[in-house]
Amino acid sequence: MKRREFIKKAAAGVAASSVFGPVYAQTQKRIRWRMATSWPKSLDTIYGGAELIARRVNELTDGKFQIRVYAGGEIVPPLKVVDAVQQGTVEAGHTASYYYIGKHPAFAFGTALPFGFTYRVQNAWLYNGNGNKLMNELFAEYNMIGFPAGNTGAQMGGWFRKEINSVEDLKGLKMRIPGLGGKVMDRLGVTVQVLGGGEIFPALERGTIDATEWVGPYDDEKLGFYKVAKYYYYPGWWEPGPTLHFYVNLDAWNKLPAEYQAILKTVAAEANLQMMVDYDSKNPAALKSLLGRGVRLRKFPLDVLKAAEKEAFALYDELAAENEFYRKVYEDWKAFREDAHRWFGTTELAIGQYLFAGL
Ligand code: CA
Repeated sequence: MKRREFIKKAAAGVAASSVFGPVYAQTQKRIRWRMATSWPKSLDTIYGGAELIARRVNELTDGKFQIRVYAGGEIVPPLKVVDAVQQGTVEAGHTASYYYIGKHPAFAFGTALPFGFTYRVQNAWLYNGNGNKLMNELFAEYNMIGFPAGNTGAQMGGWFRKEINSVEDLKGLKMRIPGLGGKVMDRLGVTVQVLGGGEIFPALERGTIDATEWVGPYDDEKLGFYKVAKYYYYPGWWEPGPTLHFYVNLDAWNKLPAEYQAILKTVAAEANLQMMVDYDSKNPAALKSLLGRGVRLRKFPLDVLKAAEKEAFALYDELAAENEFYRKVYEDWKAFREDAHRWFGTTELAIGQYLFAGL
């Protein structure tokens, strides 16, 4: 290249970078984050929700924004994800809000309350009602912003070594069950433990616990509970449609370009849909397979459900009397629930009853 041509091209390059430089720098910002989760890697449904977020963010930013996902216990204990996000040890987390009711009881609304919302009602409340707005008022107190990023649908009631024929049979039972469901079980005489997903099977096998709940047939079969407890109860009245959350440390969030914030919001919504699709497509075959292994399916007796519901609402009233923010969320949640039940109790209920049970 002749010297004059070289100078001309170099000058053009300088001009181009000064015009397009700032835009280029913003859209191409390179970011590396870590996301702690509460989940064992073996669960492609729930851990898969966190992986989907990382994969899609990578794709949508052409590899410029990369998030590394960690299983529960890898860098943060499974039930300490919120602590790590709050402190900025990690920029992001994927977990269930109700693991953190010890910090504030209103964390329960982010996931599920006993006798609360199904998947459909939960999403309606979170996205179009006041749910996400109220939850983010709470999360901001913990230096986080949160997005719904997964749902399991109505859960199973879990695995028991012995049959539960009455409320009396619950007394003295040692069970793994988190959230306000655990508080209700405690009021019914159960000794409650909260363990991360990967910690449950060893505890059940050793006899540290007599019973456990996790999610539903697909996950539960993978975790192997049927090998040590034969009775599989339903419905999981404490989790009619629990949401999992994608949390981001607020300082890390505020440093992101608006474009990357929009991408995170979008992929969280995608994870929220995809996880439900995964559970709904994988649970039917897993239930069939579990029945083939000799698992005994049982429905909780009506008196257990009634007693649990009574204790649940007594607990909610107590919490509302003690805590102002809890009361604010509870009143909104309760009003939404009442209207939702009127609607879902008509055609949705009738079609479900006829399709699934011929009634
Ligand atoms: Ca559960």
